[in-house]
Amino acid sequence: MQEEKRQIEVIRERFGTEFERFVNFRKEEFGDLTLAAAERLKKELEDLRVKHTGKKSPLSGAKRLIGKIAPENRAEFGKFVQKISGEIESALDEAEDRLGNYILKTRTERETIDVTLPGRRPQPGHLHPITLLRQRIEDIFVSMGYAIEDDREIETDYYNFDALNIPEHHPARESQDTFYTTGGFALRSQTSTVQIRAMERRGVPIRIIAPGRVFRRDTPDQTHTPMFHQIEGLCVDKGINMSHLKGTVTEWLRRMYGKETKTRFRPSYFPFTEPSAEFDFSCFKCDGTGEFEGDKCGTCRGSGWIELGGCGMVHPNVLENCGVDHKVYSGFAFGFGLERMCALMYSLDDIRLMFENDVRFLKQFH
Ligand SMILES: [Zn+2]
Repeated sequence: MQEEKRQIEVIRERFGTEFERFVNFRKEEFGDLTLAAAERLKKELEDLRVKHTGKKSPLSGAKRLIGKIAPENRAEFGKFVQKISGEIESALDEAEDRLGNYILKTRTERETIDVTLPGRRPQPGHLHPITLLRQRIEDIFVSMGYAIEDDREIETDYYNFDALNIPEHHPARESQDTFYTTGGFALRSQTSTVQIRAMERRGVPIRIIAPGRVFRRDTPDQTHTPMFHQIEGLCVDKGINMSHLKGTVTEWLRRMYGKETKTRFRPSYFPFTEPSAEFDFSCFKCDGTGEFEGDKCGTCRGSGWIELGGCGMVHPNVLENCGVDHKVYSGFAFGFGLERMCALMYSLDDIRLMFENDVRFLKQFH
C-alpha cells in the first residue's frame, strides 16, 4: 500500500506545480489583471480541472486502485485518496469561483455608464493642406478680378496637346507622358487644357485661374507623385503684354508672402507661350538673403530665390486654335505646382506625405 500511497503523493505534487500560478486567486489577489487575461486564465483553469480530475486523469486511475488494495488497508487507503482528491477539487473550486467573481465585477464596472462624464465630442475634420493653400490663392486672384474655372480631368489628345501647340512627335509630349485610357482619352498632364476650354466657352476678354489635379507617369519619390495639383492663370484682352504678366504674378506673390517679396523672370521655353519665362520669388524664410539664423537657408538652399513656375505670352497658334484673332487680342498665362509650394511653406522633405492620409500628419494643419 505504501507504493500506491506514494503514487497519490506524486499526483498531488504534479497538480501543485501546475496550480502554482493560480494560487493567488484563492486569496483574491488579482493585481491589475485585465478582463481579457482573466477570461483566458479561467479557461486554462478549466483545462487544468479536466486534466487532473477528469475521467482519464491519474487521480481517477488512483481511485480505481482502491478495490485492489488488501481489505484490511482498503478503508485507510480509500480515505487517503478522498482527502487528496478533496484538496485538489477545493483548490480548483475556490480559484475558479474567485476568478469568476472578479470577471463578473470587472465586466459590470466596464459596462456601467457614468452619467456624470461629459459626452464625447465628435471630431470635426478640417481641410487638407493642399486645399487650404489652393483656397488662399483663389481668394487672392478673385480679389484681383479673376474667375475660377474648373474642368474635366480626362481629356482628349487634342485638348491636352494639339490645341496647346504640342503636335504629335513634339518632344514636350515625351516629358509630359501621362496615363491613357483604352478609348483614346488621357488623364490631363497639365491644367492648361482649361485655358482652351474656357476660351472656347466664354470667348475673350477673359481672366481666369484654373486649379486642379494633373497626372504624369512619374515614379513616386520625395519630389514626384503621379498625381499632383497645378494652378493655371490666363488673361486675354486687347493690349496685354509682358509687363501685365510680371505685375500680376508679383502682386499675387506679395499678397501671399508679404509686400517686400521680389520676383524674377528667366527666359525659358514652353510650346504654348512665346516668349516664355520661368518665375522665381525671393525666399520667404530668409527674405532673399540666402542665410537663416547664421546658416545657409534650407528653404532656398542659400540662393535667396525660390523657383515656382512657368509663364509667358500665349502663343498665337493657341489663340487661333480657340478662334481668337491674335492680331487683335493678346494674353499671358502662368502655371505652377501646389505641392512644391506647400512643401516649402511647411518645410516638408517628402511630398508623398500629403497623400498618405496619415491623420497624425494631416491634423497638424488645423
Ligand atoms: Zn531662403
